[in-house]
Amino acid sequence: MARAHLQSFPPGSTIGVFGSGQLGRMLALEARRMGYRLHTFSPTRNAPTGQIADQEVAAAYDDRSAVQAFVQSVDVLTFEFENVPAHVAEIAAACGVPVRPAGHILHAAQNRLREKMLLAQAGLPLTPHRAVGSLTDLQSAVQELGAPAVLKTAVFGYDGKGQARIDSDRRLEAAWQAVGRQACVLEAFVDFASEVSVVAARGVDGSFAAYPLVENRHVNHILDITIAPATVEPTIAGEAEQLARQVLSALDVIGVLCIEFFLLPARDSPPARRLLINEIAPRPHNSGHWTIEGAVTNQFEQQLRAVCGLPLGSTEQTRPAVMLNLLGDLWQNGEPDWAALLAYPAAKLHLYGKDEARPGRKMGHLTMTADTTAEALETGLAARAALVQ
Ligand code: AMP
Repeated sequence: MARAHLQSFPPGSTIGVFGSGQLGRMLALEARRMGYRLHTFSPTRNAPTGQIADQEVAAAYDDRSAVQAFVQSVDVLTFEFENVPAHVAEIAAACGVPVRPAGHILHAAQNRLREKMLLAQAGLPLTPHRAVGSLTDLQSAVQELGAPAVLKTAVFGYDGKGQARIDSDRRLEAAWQAVGRQACVLEAFVDFASEVSVVAARGVDGSFAAYPLVENRHVNHILDITIAPATVEPTIAGEAEQLARQVLSALDVIGVLCIEFFLLPARDSPPARRLLINEIAPRPHNSGHWTIEGAVTNQFEQQLRAVCGLPLGSTEQTRPAVMLNLLGDLWQNGEPDWAALLAYPAAKLHLYGKDEARPGRKMGHLTMTADTTAEALETGLAARAALVQ
C-alpha cells in the first residue's frame, strides 16, 4: 500500500473542501468535469461552492461533530480559504483523512507574523517589517523603519482590510486604534514599480510547476486586473519562479500556492534583488483565474491533481490573457448589461452565484484572450465598461 503522504485518489473519489466561496466553486466545476465527487463545508447555505457540489454541509467550523461527520464522508480534504480554524485539520488527522496542503500551512498563512517568520527563516526576500504588540512597539518600529509605513493586523486581514497607513511618526495612536489595538506587523511602504505574482504547484512526490509571472493592478487594495504574462525581463520571471520553488519546498506544500510580490524599480536594485514577497496564499488565487482560458491546465485542475496525488499538468500559457474582476459596484444601477459584454466574442464571463451585490464584493470575473496582452487589456476594459453604459 502507498505510504499515507503519497496516497493518491483517482477520479471517482470524493474531495472535501472547507470553505464555500468562488475558489471552491471553480474547483468543484473542474472536479465534476474530471469525474470526482466534491463535498463542501462552510457556515452558509446555497453558497457559491455549494451550488455546484455534490453535497453542501452548512455548519459552524467549531461544531466538532459536524466537522467529524464531514471528514468521514470524503477521501481527501482541502480548503479554499485560509481562515478555517486549525482544529479542523486535527479532526481530519484523527480520522486518518489526508489534508492537502497540510494543517501547518493553514496555521502559517493565518497569521502574517508567523508567515513572515517562516519565510525569513528560509532566507526569502521580504518587505522590511517589525512585529507590533503595543503602542510603544509601534513607536519604536516607526523609528526604525521610517515613514511611510503600513500597519497590518496579524490575523483576518485581506484585500486591504485591517490596515492603516502611517505617513509620519505623529498620530500613531490613531493608527493603533484604527487596527483595533491587536497584534500587528508594521511594514515599510514599498514604492514598487509594479505588483506581480506567481501561481505554482507542488505534487506529493515533490514535483513542481509554475505558471508564468503575471502583473496585478489593484484598486482600493482589491485586485482589479491581472495581465498574463507580465511584461518583465526574463531574469525577473526566472527569479520569481525560483523563489516560488523555494517557498513551496520550504513550507512542504502539497497543492497550489500563490506568491504576491512587489517588483522594485530597476534603478534601485540589481535584478536578483528586485522582488520582495508581500504575501502568500496556499490555494488557487484570483491572479490565477486567467489560466481557465489561457493555460493548458488551469489552476483548479492543478489543485485537484496535486491534492489527489496525481501528476501535475502543463502550466504552459496558450494565449495572452487579461482577467478583470467584476465587483458588486457594477450592480449599483441595477443588473449589468450582460449582452453588451457578450457582444465581445472572445469575452469569457464567470459569475459566482452570489445573491447580494455589495460594493467591493467579488461577484465574478471576465477573461479576455487576444494575440497580445495590450489587445486583451484594451478589449477587456471595453467589455467591462459596456456592462454599465
Ligand atoms: P495585502 O492585503 O497585504 O495584500 O495588501 C493589499 C494591497 O495594499 C497590496 O496589493 C498593495 O497594493 C498595497 N500594499 C500592502 N502593503 C504594502 C506595502 N508595504 N507597501 C506598499 N503597498 C502596500
